[in-house]
Amino acid sequence: MATALIEEKSGKVVIRNIGLLLSGDIDHPILEADTIVIQDGLITAVGKEKDCDTEGAKTIIDAKQTCVAPGLIDSHVHPVFGDWTPRQGQLGWIDSTMHGGVTTMISAGEVHLPGRPKDIVGLKALAITAQRAFDNFRPGGVKVIAGAPVIEKGMTEQDFKELAEAGVTLLGEVGLGSVKAGYEAKEMVAWARKHGIQSTIHTGGPSIPGSGLIDKDVVLEADADVIGHINGGHTSLPEAHVCELCEKSSRAIEIVHNGNERVAIAAAKAALELKCPHRVILGTDGPAGSGVQPLGMLRMVALLSSLANIPAELVFCFATGNTARIRNLNCGLIEVGRAADFVFMDRAQHTAGRTLLESVQLGDIPGVGMVMIDGIVRCGRSRNTPPATEVPVVVH
Ligand SMILES: [Zn+2]
Repeated sequence: MATALIEEKSGKVVIRNIGLLLSGDIDHPILEADTIVIQDGLITAVGKEKDCDTEGAKTIIDAKQTCVAPGLIDSHVHPVFGDWTPRQGQLGWIDSTMHGGVTTMISAGEVHLPGRPKDIVGLKALAITAQRAFDNFRPGGVKVIAGAPVIEKGMTEQDFKELAEAGVTLLGEVGLGSVKAGYEAKEMVAWARKHGIQSTIHTGGPSIPGSGLIDKDVVLEADADVIGHINGGHTSLPEAHVCELCEKSSRAIEIVHNGNERVAIAAAKAALELKCPHRVILGTDGPAGSGVQPLGMLRMVALLSSLANIPAELVFCFATGNTARIRNLNCGLIEVGRAADFVFMDRAQHTAGRTLLESVQLGDIPGVGMVMIDGIVRCGRSRNTPPATEVPVVVH
């Protein structure tokens, strides 16, 4: 299991001979560029090779005309500690997911911790510990933004202030704890927002025995920043209620792998019809009862592109730039100053699609040929995806 040293610096890196550059920006998803220059983990130039300063690079990568996209951001995961999940008793799931093109994960609560504390001091301590632990430890180089407390009855504004001051930036899914009524959730979500903590609400039926239903009226009243798994995790609200949420709320529409696939497609289509594709973000909601899906994000991209008939280059933005903007992350977009977190892809061998984008629109997942995080190569040809037709080469 590769464990990245956070202090490691990439130096100057040049990626040349890019065949297709996906920006992550839903208003402009394809860039007219074939070269990216990186210095110490940040993008310093994007353009045609002749216009970029490529001299003196420590590392040169020949992309071999493959596609480079921002590393995928999984907006909804349930990590615990390290690269271990007790939910399915697996080790190495985060490193394995990096082989599926994911470079950043966002915790929706460390809910699977055996013996998870539910008293207020305990839940705060857990959140702060998880935030610190994943800040110090990146399995496979993946940035796991964790420390997402599950709010409980009795919390006061002071608790949210303390959490924020201690470095907590997220709430776990609202509704997984004892706060299930709209009016109570609304008050706590507002306290969190006031102190700079972003919130996600559980939407739909109970996930596992012991959790409960959060219906559309509670979601609307709570007004969390992210309508978490709008397509259910797993059990969805009725399709009409999901479309009503897309219409009546202006918050992020999060669609997940471990949800209802039919409603996933309906939610994505509703967002496009409402002319708010920038609100759509994707996650897996794993590890969960459905397991761990190292290719879950790529599967979501292929599902929505093929069955909701959305151009693949736009769906990649749901998994990258949209999430980065909504969650204020310095990744997910190919532009100067952003983190050099990339996934290199090509059409899978023997797909019916003639190009990468066409293959995704036909429902096939791409082959990952390389993953880079902070300008450092974390894997070459993925051990998990079908083999990419062409893979990039590290020249030196
Ligand atoms: Zn949930």
